[in-house]
Amino acid sequence: MSVTVFGSLNLDLVAYADNLPTLGQTVTGEKLVRFPGGKGLNQAIAASRSGSKVLMVGCLGQDSEGDFLNQILLDEKIDSRYISRKQVQTGIAVIEVSKDGENRILIIPGANAQVKYELEYLNDSVKPKVALAQLETPIAEVEKFIISANRAGVTTILNPAPIQKLSNELIAACNYLIVNETEASFLIDKQFEKLNKDEAQAVGKQLLKMGAKQVIITLGDQGSLYLDTQNVIYTPAFKISAIDTTAAGDAFCGAFATALANGSPIEYALKFATAAGAIAATRAGAVPSLPTNNEILSMLASVQ
Ligand code: ADP
Repeated sequence: MSVTVFGSLNLDLVAYADNLPTLGQTVTGEKLVRFPGGKGLNQAIAASRSGSKVLMVGCLGQDSEGDFLNQILLDEKIDSRYISRKQVQTGIAVIEVSKDGENRILIIPGANAQVKYELEYLNDSVKPKVALAQLETPIAEVEKFIISANRAGVTTILNPAPIQKLSNELIAACNYLIVNETEASFLIDKQFEKLNKDEAQAVGKQLLKMGAKQVIITLGDQGSLYLDTQNVIYTPAFKISAIDTTAAGDAFCGAFATALANGSPIEYALKFATAAGAIAATRAGAVPSLPTNNEILSMLASVQ
């Protein structure tokens, strides 16, 4: 039932204003709110709330932002023994949101750039069922983590966001590659605005040709498409009224990791993750929107 997440932790500083300033302009804002964030932390929380015992590997600064995020890990019952604290700034995202919902984001990786893979993360005493990573920490370290986990017989999931070029070794060491439409298009070097099911299948096949073992392409309100060399599974999205799709992908990845760690068959794991993504889309924000196990089960029961 355990999942180790290797990834980023950020403090999201969100400033709300009627209109965003243009270059060189000063405007008066309405309020500033701080939230926990970073894809690593979002997915760790999604996995924990959806029912996993979660250990997170990451790095925080020795500052008040780091203290705030450390407390979030405690509150969310995430094992933080491998969260190092260094003499650097904690990762920060400065987010400006206008009244029309437009945003502008500046990310300072800070401590996230210092995360290193260490052998002890996969020691027998902490060896997880599932290893989950994204790309907001240095890709060379993510690669070491995923390849080592794969060699140790741990099921590996990579959500390569923000997207960048992946080595053949990294792709081959992933049991599951979970990408959204933009990330999938980047990896096969073709531009798509929005993929339909057939296009997603063609893209997925190309990713398999590149060495991926099992690919999941998330398709927003269309659901997701899973492919391996034998099977294609389309999981439609739940019909909900979306309020804010921020972190829908993180909810999907964290819940999918939980289902795999529980030994669920792939069809169920996809449905479980799809329900988590849908719930996240019905609520505002990132971390506040991530659902619990009970909420996911209720959503699944509502359509049976
Ligand atoms: P990302 O946030 O990484 O771009 P997606 O937007 O594809 O990822 O969302 C991930 C998953 O969340 C989808 O596969 C789907 O299951 C669910 N989801 C996202 N948006 C919606 C929506 N509007 N309605 C229902 N489900 C959604």
